[in-house]
Amino acid sequence: MKPAAFKYFRPDTLEEVLSLLAEHGAEARILAGGQSLVPLMNMRILSPAVLIDINRCRDLAYLREEGGMVACGALTRQGEAETSALVADRLPLLAAAMPHVGVRANRNFGTVCGSLAHADPLGELPSVATALEARFVIASARGRREVDAEEFFVSALTNCLEPDEMLAEVRLPVAAAGGKSVFLEIANRAHGFAVAGLAALVEFDAGGRCSRARLSAMGAGDTTARLRTVEALLEGGTLDDAVIREAGAAATKAAEPSDDVHASAAYRAHVTGSLVRKALRQMLGNGEQGR
Ligand SMILES: Cc1cc2nc3c(=O)[nH]c(=O)nc-3n(C[C@H](O)[C@H](O)[C@H](O)COP(=O)(O)OP(=O)(O)OC[C@H]3O[C@@H](n4cnc5c(N)ncnc54)[C@H](O)[C@@H]3O)c2cc1C
Repeated sequence: MKPAAFKYFRPDTLEEVLSLLAEHGAEARILAGGQSLVPLMNMRILSPAVLIDINRCRDLAYLREEGGMVACGALTRQGEAETSALVADRLPLLAAAMPHVGVRANRNFGTVCGSLAHADPLGELPSVATALEARFVIASARGRREVDAEEFFVSALTNCLEPDEMLAEVRLPVAAAGGKSVFLEIANRAHGFAVAGLAALVEFDAGGRCSRARLSAMGAGDTTARLRTVEALLEGGTLDDAVIREAGAAATKAAEPSDDVHASAAYRAHVTGSLVRKALRQMLGNGEQGR
């Protein structure tokens, strides 16, 4: 099938995008990389009356470090983040997750912010942003506001944006020295969408105890889910084998996945626990994928 007819705008600046959003609001969609939006329009699952293509807004394509965060603009491609030395050095969790997002052709077009705005509970980048406690900079003609991941991701494929708003930038906190991060996922086929996944980061104090743990699971709920009971269990203690096993069991218990054609809810809950154990063991081992 082909998409239903729509009006097409291709502004050059953020201000023009915001004024088009103010004018067309609820009937408009932003077109970024088009890797999710265009297939949905072709299948007529979505039929926006207005498309606002941001691909000429070059000022929205950037990755820069400021104030302990890496700021990523709305037009930064996933492929740019994947090959960025800044991301490799400052955001090892994002760097580890990036190759799992579709195939290279998707990443060449797809944007980091587009993936976040799409809010797929099986998306890698929402999970990474949640674990990193990213800040989401939302812009409209009315002004700017900033929210955290838990406010931004409302439910499956639903974010907190008002019709006249766009995600202008995501701000990802730089990894702490001595912290370790691991990204893992299980998929039914190479480069396919994940069945379940985990973005995990742990910081340690001078005595080697866990001072901060952030774990965000994919496929364990109707949106990307912080495993808070697991985080609480890890913080303040030493990551020995008993704690790791307990953490895995707590993760399986905390998961609230659904059945679909790819996997049963019970399998997803089981895998969530296994991924937590595996990630923590990797952090204690050779620090593979960690910083
Ligand atoms: C074959 C294939 C495999 C894929 N595999 C994966 C995978 O394994 N994991 C995964 O996570 N994704 C996967 N994707 C989706 C891909 O990563 C998309 O790039 C991503 O979901 C959306 O980014 P985009 O820039 O293409 O956004 P678009 O498709 O342009 O937009 C997606 C949605 O977000 C909105 N939007 C985009 N940018 C903004 C913004 N700045 N502010 C507000 N709203 C905005 C759009 O209006 C639309 O509703 C796959 C896609 C394909 C085609």
